[in-house]
Amino acid sequence: MPPTPLVGPFDGASARLRPAEPGRLAVDDLVRGTVGVGWVEPGSVAGDTATVRVSTSGIASPDAVAEVLDAITSQVRAAGIARLLLETDDEDRDRYTTRTGGDPDVTLVPALRVTNSLGRRVQRVVTRDAGAVGLYSCGPTVYSYQHLGNMRPYVFADSLKRALQWRGMHVQHVINITDVGHLLKDADQGEDKVEEASRAEGRSVEEITRHYTQTYWDDLRSLNVMFPDHWPKATEYVPRMIDFAAVLEERGFAYPLPAGLYFDTARQPGYGELAGLDFDGMLEGARVDPVEGKHHKTDFALWRTFTDGRERLMQWESPWGLGAPGWHLECSVMSMSLLGDHFDIHTGGIDHRELHHVNEIAQSEAYLSDGRPWVRYWMHNEFLNFGGAKMAKSAGGILRLADLVALGVHPLAYRMLLLQSHYGSQLAFTEQLALNAHVALKRLAARISEALGAATGGDGLREPVTLAEALDEAAVLGSSELADRLLALDAAMVDDLHTERLLAVLSDWSRAPSSLPVAEWEVLVRAVNTLTGLDLGRLRPADFVPPLPADIDVAWVEDRLAERESARAVKDWALADRMRDELATRRIRLEDTPSGTHWYVAGEG
Ligand SMILES: [Zn+2]
Repeated sequence: MPPTPLVGPFDGASARLRPAEPGRLAVDDLVRGTVGVGWVEPGSVAGDTATVRVSTSGIASPDAVAEVLDAITSQVRAAGIARLLLETDDEDRDRYTTRTGGDPDVTLVPALRVTNSLGRRVQRVVTRDAGAVGLYSCGPTVYSYQHLGNMRPYVFADSLKRALQWRGMHVQHVINITDVGHLLKDADQGEDKVEEASRAEGRSVEEITRHYTQTYWDDLRSLNVMFPDHWPKATEYVPRMIDFAAVLEERGFAYPLPAGLYFDTARQPGYGELAGLDFDGMLEGARVDPVEGKHHKTDFALWRTFTDGRERLMQWESPWGLGAPGWHLECSVMSMSLLGDHFDIHTGGIDHRELHHVNEIAQSEAYLSDGRPWVRYWMHNEFLNFGGAKMAKSAGGILRLADLVALGVHPLAYRMLLLQSHYGSQLAFTEQLALNAHVALKRLAARISEALGAATGGDGLREPVTLAEALDEAAVLGSSELADRLLALDAAMVDDLHTERLLAVLSDWSRAPSSLPVAEWEVLVRAVNTLTGLDLGRLRPADFVPPLPADIDVAWVEDRLAERESARAVKDWALADRMRDELATRRIRLEDTPSGTHWYVAGEG
């Protein structure tokens, strides 16, 4: 539910605050003769604690800032609310501390900041509408199983969503299902991935997309990724895509070719801004297709017209002939259909930053033509590397979550492994790392259960909680230690989602179970579960019994690997290859990498 506004409008308290953007009050009128702007966002109430977001770092006058602060506190007190949680600009903290430093009922917290790929900066998240966030995440193309690397974007988007909700924001989240239009090699020309899979597997397109969507959803559930509000499928939006492309053509942003309708990138002066400095280099890359008649090499297909006369399983009539939509067009149309013309945050893997998202922006801003940025925040997660190379389906070596589970790794251990790195860092994956994460999660879960004592396993430990609610409970319990710990979790998370810092402080606390009373641990664990999705206090030792297939013994495999390593050391390649084949008959697959040999149990399918 959207939060109930508490503070504002300020007309009664201060005539100088006036309505500005939706849900905000401008405070620029407070600045006496100096240039500067600011805003106050009407907040919400949890128990006896009110949250208010404020930005005054653009206001030069300290007196004016003090007046804003007084207006806020007096209104909160007038409403009978005891405590105030104030989100401020980082650079403005000192001016607030000067005024509120001695007041135990006012807690200053930093605002949520994220790395915006637009401009490559860490920025405060300021949403279009107060207390609400529109979030779109590029979803999977459902033509095969999602490998471990493919799951990182969704765990990352889930962390972001959890941080926003923790700060009391109402999140509308959309993840699309690409069931048509994504071509091999992310290109504009060639075979559709889904159609290709249908042919290769001898199954209908519907069977293919249903099967791989279901297994993707199963993996998300195992990873405790919260489902979005909407799962749009590209095939259900084709008529809207045609309308969207027709508008672009009508306005002169697109031109028809025999190969389809192409977007004219030269008409967009800001084209490629998101890709940054590497953009020119990227253009020389292989993914830019040579298409007869294209005006510029960066122009891309909004609609692909089928000209070879071959019958496709997925094709639609359009003003540009029988064909299918372009992949980039799909995301623009689905996101705008569900979140409105402009929304707040768009996420995806870093591989989308240079092309897919560049093209989404170009066509969407051309379509809207309102002189405003389409989406304010673009966030990208880095790759999961496997043996030194980016883990992509085309690179082979595909490992699925199911393969890890077959190794005896708890699925949430994979989630924990991802949270142990910042989303903006590449992560070099090995099975050993996953096994380590499994052991670490098992240990952490045991310590937390010990701290919780009889409270272990309670349903309430899974109930999401906001920072304001948790702090309110800490105040009711009269525990400044609990409040400090909540603020430490919060500080790690809102500073660009540094989940690895959050896990580090949690690990420290877990070593001293008696450092907090059980009732306080309960609040803390709820907060941790809200932010990490790790289900602590609910996981039991029995959940960690390795379900490794009975015919596979880890020690035996490790012994074989050591022997094979010795053979390789003396360049006995024939023996090393024989051992590889021997292991393969037991479904053990090997990956020789510069950092050593990794193994995994091949899954079915
Ligand atoms: Zn997309």
